[in-house]
Amino acid sequence: MRFGFDIDDTLINLREHAFHIYNRKLNLSIGLEVFRELKTVEIHEAFGMDAEAGGRMWNSLLEEIYFTDCPVFEGALELLTELERQGHEIYYITSRPKQYCSQTRQWVKDQGFPVHDERFYCGMQDQEKINIIKDLNLDYYFDDKPAVLDTLKDISTKVYVKDQSYNRDAGILRVEKWSDFSF
Ligand SMILES: [Mg+2]
Repeated sequence: MRFGFDIDDTLINLREHAFHIYNRKLNLSIGLEVFRELKTVEIHEAFGMDAEAGGRMWNSLLEEIYFTDCPVFEGALELLTELERQGHEIYYITSRPKQYCSQTRQWVKDQGFPVHDERFYCGMQDQEKINIIKDLNLDYYFDDKPAVLDTLKDISTKVYVKDQSYNRDAGILRVEKWSDFSF
């Protein structure tokens, strides 16, 4: 079967990693309980920033956020390794900016994920993911972002949301922990 995965906040804990970096840069110690209540994908609210300041902060720290020691979600590596072992096809579909794509692919490999270069899609807009997912004829697709999931309502691919504080209203199948997922 063909499995597609978003990367950030689906397979890896990127926002929380960024949250720690923001605290450090701003010399603050905002607690994770604030993080866990956020209803937006963006994290700037927790630091009292508006969208513009938040966007500037995010972009200025992008390389540090992407390419340091962002943790992988528990069970994700084991699941994908097992899928690969069973002969399933694993696709990665990330809307990270184009200029970070090859470094991202290498970073994902370095974490131990099974990556076939031709099955790594990167650098598209969120709304373009739907075309890729359709064209790839995926059996399963996993993402965290409501704006992406909303475009995937009427396709035959079985779509799952990776549980996050900002997507609890998405009325679709949900993965709380990768170690609990089975198909
Ligand atoms: Mg994501």
